[in-house]
Amino acid sequence: MNEIKAPKGTHDVFPPEIGKWQHLENAIRSYYGRFLYQEIRTPLFEHSELFSRGIGGETEVVQKEMYTFSDKSDRSLTLRPENTAAVVRAVIENNLIETMAPLRFYYFGPMFRYDKPQKGRYRQFHQYGIEVLGDDSPQVDAEVIFAAVDFLRELGIAQVQLELNSVGCPSCRPAYLEVLRQAARAEGERLCADCRRKIDGNPLRIFDCKQHACGEAARRFPVIGDHLCAECGEHFAAVRATLSWMNVPFELNPRLVRGLDYYTKTAFEVTSGQLGAQNALLGGGRYNSLVRELGGPDLAGIGFAAGMERIILHLEHLEPPAPRPLFVAYGESQWLAHAVQLAQVLRKEGYPVYVDYQGRNLKKQFKKADRIAAAFTLVLAADEVESGSVSVKNMASQQQSKIHLKDLNEWLKKNY
Ligand code: AMP
Repeated sequence: MNEIKAPKGTHDVFPPEIGKWQHLENAIRSYYGRFLYQEIRTPLFEHSELFSRGIGGETEVVQKEMYTFSDKSDRSLTLRPENTAAVVRAVIENNLIETMAPLRFYYFGPMFRYDKPQKGRYRQFHQYGIEVLGDDSPQVDAEVIFAAVDFLRELGIAQVQLELNSVGCPSCRPAYLEVLRQAARAEGERLCADCRRKIDGNPLRIFDCKQHACGEAARRFPVIGDHLCAECGEHFAAVRATLSWMNVPFELNPRLVRGLDYYTKTAFEVTSGQLGAQNALLGGGRYNSLVRELGGPDLAGIGFAAGMERIILHLEHLEPPAPRPLFVAYGESQWLAHAVQLAQVLRKEGYPVYVDYQGRNLKKQFKKADRIAAAFTLVLAADEVESGSVSVKNMASQQQSKIHLKDLNEWLKKNY
């Protein structure tokens, strides 16, 4: 029969790499807990409309990258391509605005996009992120950015660049978009066909185009920074000032726009010099229009999402602590029951314990103990069972001692 392979753009994670994932997940919980973020888990699929409304029908993600399907009742559902829209949906639907404060969430989990797979880019990939709802102060923007960058530093990822911009708000952006459209139209055929289509819809997205000629044209375009309203200008200045107090270095990038429509004011991106083409580690920004767009009240929001696979690529040298199991061996199969019971007791005490059930001789069991890198092998045979003891062999030093079962716990505490 044909071998069945994993679908393109997906990957399996198993030891030892899984240790890096667990390390990252634990670090996320512990770090963001310090800022009073709480975990939120939303479904892996949602009504497709959530994403077309929440991300923007014209974005690449919605037009080309969503895994959308009809269920047996003909509902259009979509595997989540990102998580901000779902978090906002959950906050509105469960009325968390009234009942929970502060609204600070972190999440991590799989996201799905029909992207072109390559190193660091997958179709099922994982993101972690944070979201703060209900606070429009520029200091929150700075704190979110700090918590994005400082976490990477704590993980040992130091060589990162933070780029920052403001994308304006519904009062200043429309006028800027008109100026931008004029400039884009003047480029005519120099822009690729895709970008020419973006002019009438969301011309900001021309800044994201990877075509060389479009990049060149974008350098000639007016930038939003010169068209911010007073409120956006002041907000942005305060974000920059707070980042300076917090000692967070950043570069202003007036052409940084986020691919998603709901962003307002602060936008940021963190890239790594170590990753080659797929160098974006995380991106985020303010989304003050999103909650209302999804049917909720007028509520400000800010957050970021980071690519976990790309962060794992930076943890190459991380050696997660390997378990040092105890191996319980039995001389003959008649002592198997004793071995099983001893293993149960030791596991209750918190030790990782392995028993080989295949009824093989002691020599083979010792071989297996070596294969699993056991710290100690505990042997039960006639002698030991009769005297209520166990022979404990230190697998590194090969030293063996006979320990009374009642003293075993104390002995392990000293010697494990
Ligand atoms: P976005 O939600 O597009 O702003 O992406 C946020 C982060 O998720 C990016 O900076 C990447 O690190 C990561 N990311 C986005 N798409 C993919 C993908 N297809 N495969 C792996 N990581 C991704």
